[in-house]
Amino acid sequence: MKRTHLLLLTLFLSLPVWSQQTFLHCGSLIDGVQNQPLSQVTLVVQGSKIVRIDKGYTNPGAGDKVIDLKNKTVMPGFMDMHVHLEGETSRGGAINRFIQNPADLALEGAKHARTTLLAGFTTVRDLGGTGANVALRNAVNKGWVVGPRIFTAGKSIATTGGHADPTNGFRKDLMGDPGPAEGVANGPDQCRQAVRQRYKDGSDLIKITATGGVLSLAKDGSGPQFTEEELRAIMETAKDYGFKVAAHAHGVEGMKRAVRAGITSIEHGTYMDDETMALMKKNGTFYVPTITAGRTVADSAKIPGYYAPVVVPKALAVGPKIQGTFAKAYKAGVKIAFGTDAGVFVHGNNAAEFEYMVEAGMPPMEAIKSATVVAAELVGMKDQLGTLEAGKLADIVAVNENPLQNIKTLRKVTFVMKDGVVYKSE
Ligand SMILES: [Zn+2]
Repeated sequence: MKRTHLLLLTLFLSLPVWSQQTFLHCGSLIDGVQNQPLSQVTLVVQGSKIVRIDKGYTNPGAGDKVIDLKNKTVMPGFMDMHVHLEGETSRGGAINRFIQNPADLALEGAKHARTTLLAGFTTVRDLGGTGANVALRNAVNKGWVVGPRIFTAGKSIATTGGHADPTNGFRKDLMGDPGPAEGVANGPDQCRQAVRQRYKDGSDLIKITATGGVLSLAKDGSGPQFTEEELRAIMETAKDYGFKVAAHAHGVEGMKRAVRAGITSIEHGTYMDDETMALMKKNGTFYVPTITAGRTVADSAKIPGYYAPVVVPKALAVGPKIQGTFAKAYKAGVKIAFGTDAGVFVHGNNAAEFEYMVEAGMPPMEAIKSATVVAAELVGMKDQLGTLEAGKLADIVAVNENPLQNIKTLRKVTFVMKDGVVYKSE
């Protein structure tokens, strides 16, 4: 057979596959746009995208596929704006950084990525690790690893002894003097260098630790750790590279400095006051609460030996306050994007956050939107993610019950599609 004939034959044979569509018959659909679910609709998916939404259950053509979700509530894939995929909490886990190699972290990350996706989280922001999280993102994008779409910060940026200084609490000869390459920066020049290093490393966004934190081996959990001048240097440089910047912050002073400097999101926000909330509203700053992490660390701190002694009082003081802060911020009208800090608790339990948000006074529909359409805005992909509309990426999940009546059902996601590929169907 001539080559041209063979080529034409190949084209002809592959044609049906190219145009094959998947018809998802959805009993109830929360599309992320309307405030009420739609009933009995068909989502038509082709390749990685939603091509149209039909009223009623429409029938596919020859060669097309049907997925029966008639008894389910279908939603956009959930988006967790704060996870750490490289690791997971365990009793005495502080020793891990002395015994794990980068390859161990990468492989462990692959396990957590899979768990996260199968729990219905089709997009996450990884807010800090060693850099294995950059390789993990690449591996997911190449299809080598099953996981959510990852926006990674790579290594967080801290000041010397700050929350994300990687040698906090080490003995002196191991402590050394890490610099911008390791994510430690002092003064505006080093802050600029640290941001540029993240660009070189392949980060998607910047994460800084604007105040002390709970799980670092350091005494202070909430004081400011960057000057305003340093924060401005970070923001200016981040802008040059198109980076959004997430700031870990518990104490109010560090939080205010970060918001004034133009930070994109405040993570945890434990001691946020009315003035800061007003400023965040004015600047359009997102709040990513991580209530689940707060509650979990407070519980774990009560188990003898779970954390190092220096961590325990911080966990007990900070942890239980976050849910109350969330309630106030929601009432005040601060823009809230769903985030959990998974890794600080076991991966795959991300949906517990929905329950805590609802418990604190947010209506279920709002909680779902915070994990879909609001989160899509935070990662700058509102045109492609966060709602189920024609032209958007086919990131779709389903549960058996109506989450507006029983929010706990979001813990049991039974169907997961990402980029048009089905990863779970029960
Ligand atoms: Zn975190």
